[in-house]
Parts: sequence; C-alpha cells; structure tokens
Amino acid sequence: MSYAKDLIVPPGKKVKLKDIDPGYHGTHESSDKALPDLQHYMEKIKALQYTMYAERGHSLLIVLQGIDAAGKDGVCRHVIDAMNPQGCSVVGFKQPSAEEQAHDFLWRIHPHTPARGRTAIFNRSHYEDVLVVRVHKLAPEPVWSKHYEQINAFESLLTHNNTTILKFFLYISKDEQLARFKQRLDDPSRQWKISESDYTERAYWDDYISAYEDMLERCSTEKAPWYVIPSNHKWFRNLAVSQIMSEAMEKMDMKMPKPTVDLAHIRKAYHKAEKE
Ligand code: AMP
Ligand code: MG
Repeated sequence: MSYAKDLIVPPGKKVKLKDIDPGYHGTHESSDKALPDLQHYMEKIKALQYTMYAERGHSLLIVLQGIDAAGKDGVCRHVIDAMNPQGCSVVGFKQPSAEEQAHDFLWRIHPHTPARGRTAIFNRSHYEDVLVVRVHKLAPEPVWSKHYEQINAFESLLTHNNTTILKFFLYISKDEQLARFKQRLDDPSRQWKISESDYTERAYWDDYISAYEDMLERCSTEKAPWYVIPSNHKWFRNLAVSQIMSEAMEKMDMKMPKPTVDLAHIRKAYHKAEKE
C-alpha cells in the first residue's frame, strides 16, 4: 500500500493533530513483516540517488521537524544508510549564532540547500522560525507571522530550480516522548542526548502542537508538501519515509547522462592497450 496520499497534507488543509493516531502503522503489522518492503524502498532510493548524482540535473531536499525525541536523528541515519554519502549531506540547525541573528532568518539556510545531483537532509530547519520562535516569543508576532509566506516563496524558488522538497513532520504522542526520555535516562549509551530543555520544552507541548498545525496548514504546497508521519513505531516511520522518498524520486524522471566520450573510439584504445 502507498502511504503518501494518506499522510500528505493537502495545500491549505486545516490539520487537527489530535485526530491523527501517532501509533498508526497502516497495513503493515510489525517491524518484521515490514522489513522486505523497507529493503525494497531502500534499494530503490540507492539506485535513484546514483542516477541523480550522475545526471546532475535534480536535487532533493528532505526537511525533518518534530518535537524532542520524535526521531529526527533516527531518520537521518536511516536515510543516509540508503545513500552514497558522497552525494548527501545532513545539516542540523541549532540556536542561531550572533552573526546569523544579525541577518534574515533564511540567510543561514540557503547555503545548505542541495546542489544539482545532491541530497540534503535538514535536521530542523527554517521552520524553527515559526515553531520555537513563535512558542517562546523570540520574535514579535508581526515578524514570525510573515515567515509562512516567506518560507513558501523561498521553497518555490528552490523547486523552480529543480529541487524536489519533501517535508516530514514526525509525530509522536506525549506518552511516547516520556517513554523515550526514560530510555535515554536508563541507557548509558544514550545519556549524552539528554538536555534540560527536553523537560522544559515538554511543558509547552500544546503550544508546539498549535504551531505545528499552523505550519502544516500554511506551508504544505503542491510542490513542497508536508507529510505527517506517525512515529510512535520507529519501523513504520522509516518505512513511510522511505516509501514516500522512493516514489518522489521516481517521479523526478531522471536519466543517466550520455557518455561525454566517443565510445567506439575508446573501445579501440582499450583493445590496443589490451594487446600491449
Ligand atoms: P537539537 O536539535 O536537539 O540539537 O536542538 C537544537 C535546538 O536549537 C532546539 O532546541 C531548537 O529549538 C533550537 N533552534 C533551532 N533553530 C532555532 C531558531 N531559529 N531559533 C531559536 N532556536 C532554534
Ligand atoms: Mg534534542
């Protein structure tokens, strides 16, 4: 089953996250049962990325947003797994530096957009400027409220330049977040991930949900759609993301470039070399 049309946010649609089940896992019953499909999509992504890299005509931008512990890092690892790292970069956006803050909010984003032939994964993104900035009133409303249309214009510039944009909102429940915080606390190999802000941010859960809903409604466009990925099950999250990616990459209709050399001539040179 293709999940894209269930999970996409149609442009302008009002999203009520409480009506979406973060534990949804479609027709796939378990991680084991999903594995063959997952492998199939990963193989497809790998082949399509190879063509993209060779063709150098298209690029792919993956945007990841989600509350703390939603699985943004996990999706980065998963997507990278399917790709040749040479054609792919992951960029995490943190609190802006003083220099970044002295510019418009897209200034620090643009240099990281993918060049033709390449894929970029944004672990957080320009959307923080309608999320954390709004929730914590880091800018006044007249400033952040303009960002929606500025983001749409920016993304339209990118899509006109042959960048395919896929935006994934990783949606987990409040209980699942707490369960993941507990795992971090109990597992020494994950303790480094814990931050004070995990718990202070959790207190703003409802404000974040409202901010996410507005982001999804106002910035899901035909060319740069948002997908709400039910992410309580990590295996389903990875399956849905890789399926949507592989379908979108297929639609890019990429072609292997023609050789830049005269193959008949090269073959002659090869046979000559072989005899020497
Ligand atoms: P992490 O992704 O867990 O390493 O955390 C990065 C932190 O940077 C998060 O708390 C984000 O909310 C914060 N952050 C990212 N972009 C911005 C921004 N534009 N303004 C303020 N904080 C931001
Ligand atoms: Mg974090």
